Amino acid sequence: MENGRNKPERREYTVMIVPHRGGGKSFSLRVPMKAIKVTAVALSCFIAAGVATFANYQATIHTAKADQQELALLRANKEQQEQKIAQLAKATADVQEEMNRLTQLEGDVRRALNMEDTATSRSGVRRPGSERAGGQGGPGPLNVDQLLQQTAALKDELATREERLSDMRDDLTARNSRLAATPSIWPTSGDVTSRFGWRSSPFGYGSDWHPGIDIADSYGTPIEATADGVVVSAGWNGGYGLFVLIDHGYGISTAYGHSSELNVRAGQRVKKGDTIAYMGSTGASTGSHLHYEVRVNGRAVNPADFL
Ligand SMILES: [Zn+2]
Repeated sequence: MENGRNKPERREYTVMIVPHRGGGKSFSLRVPMKAIKVTAVALSCFIAAGVATFANYQATIHTAKADQQELALLRANKEQQEQKIAQLAKATADVQEEMNRLTQLEGDVRRALNMEDTATSRSGVRRPGSERAGGQGGPGPLNVDQLLQQTAALKDELATREERLSDMRDDLTARNSRLAATPSIWPTSGDVTSRFGWRSSPFGYGSDWHPGIDIADSYGTPIEATADGVVVSAGWNGGYGLFVLIDHGYGISTAYGHSSELNVRAGQRVKKGDTIAYMGSTGASTGSHLHYEVRVNGRAVNPADFL
């Protein structure tokens, strides 16, 4: 059906429509090659566009599905996070509660020790029942900022608590040291044969001032330091015989006379209960006994007040 021309663009085709049973007219349609090409291109474009649209549609559906899955995941995640925040709020409230109990306990300890009770009165330390944000239960939305504030406050409180306990420890250490330096035990065993104060002289020359107490027991009975301290002197001292003087600090010292033998040297540090000498009858003595003195700022006081 070529029309015989050479250039392909100018070729034309004839489409004939002939009735089958001869009765009607037959049609013939001349179609230029160019029109066929244009139609083919247009058709291809149309198909391509359709395919692209379909692909895009598929992709959109896929994305929507993925989004939906992600949303579900995020929702589940959010729920989990909220549960965790609730747990955190509960834990924080519990810690606060513990802290309050600790404050009470500290107050009790201070009162028991007759210390100034600042545990429950000093500003900045919250008492039980004071306002607390969050952690009070209920399904309301939980505020992370409030939780952060709470934990920051707890941290501050811990720092304060540490400082206060440290002060308390120093105070107690000082007390203990004071207590250890206080002559509070009997220096030896035996009977008190002479008390502190005026007495008739054991040597028969009227009355004399007795600056300590005499405790009599058998020769060689151990004599103990009645408090922690440092030996100031250990040796012969006139009427005291073999004598030990211990300085306990705080202006307090103790003296031990008439020993048969000494167990310490001057400059030596002793603890309460250490054996410092053995009972004897050296110096101005009428028999085996210990002459024991307690001195406050150099002045003899009644040792009985310390026992
Ligand atoms: Zn005496």
